[in-house]
Amino acid sequence: MDANGVTLSDGQRIETNTVIWTAGVIASALTEQIPAERDRLGRLHVDRNLQVIGLPDVFATGDVAYAATDDLGNRALMTCQHAISLGRSAGNNVAASLLGVEAMPYSQPKYVTCLDLGAWGAVFTEGWEREVKFIKDEAKAIKQQINSVWIYPPAANRAEALAAADPSIPVVA
Ligand SMILES: Cc1cc2nc3c(=O)[nH]c(=O)nc-3n(C[C@H](O)[C@H](O)[C@H](O)COP(=O)(O)OP(=O)(O)OC[C@H]3O[C@@H](n4cnc5c(N)ncnc54)[C@H](O)[C@@H]3O)c2cc1C
Repeated sequence: MDANGVTLSDGQRIETNTVIWTAGVIASALTEQIPAERDRLGRLHVDRNLQVIGLPDVFATGDVAYAATDDLGNRALMTCQHAISLGRSAGNNVAASLLGVEAMPYSQPKYVTCLDLGAWGAVFTEGWEREVKFIKDEAKAIKQQINSVWIYPPAANRAEALAAADPSIPVVA
């Protein structure tokens, strides 16, 4: 892409001042090495403890897990919102499995979206029906909070990292 347009991989040139990129997401090709069921995005089907179905010694999480977020049929998306919480649960449950203690099922019923629309502001929605709760500056402030605080990894400090890995922390308060 440059200031005057875009050149496609086949060499075709499209002159334009505006390019909207709508590429989707797909799971890492590493999932193909696991002999288990995958969804159309390549994610591994997991149970509520994030164990790959049929392979109890294999856990999948984040972008490579096709995981139920609740009992209503909703599934995690390939987003930070879900990856953070899935990571906490999977880490906990791998350790639980090694220690022979009970796993904590992954559950994340709350779902929000926050879309930054540039100078106009942002849109913040709640729920899988995406009910609009905040717009413009109010939503933009939430987006900035998400990007600068909520999705930031913890400092390189053992106690802080372990505290941040607690699977009972909700991603969205
Ligand atoms: C351009 C872009 C913009 C995005 N914007 C948003 C957004 O605004 N909001 C949102 O919620 N989500 C967004 N996402 C999605 C979000 O980044 C992912 O859902 C999230 O990072 C997934 O976390 P993860 O830990 O599952 O995987 P990743 O963050 O991809 O981490 C996987 C890690 O595994 C490592 N790895 C891969 N293969 C191997 C290997 N063979 N050996 C060792 N290590 C390996 C990788 O290097 C990487 O560090 C965006 C993604 C992209 C690409």
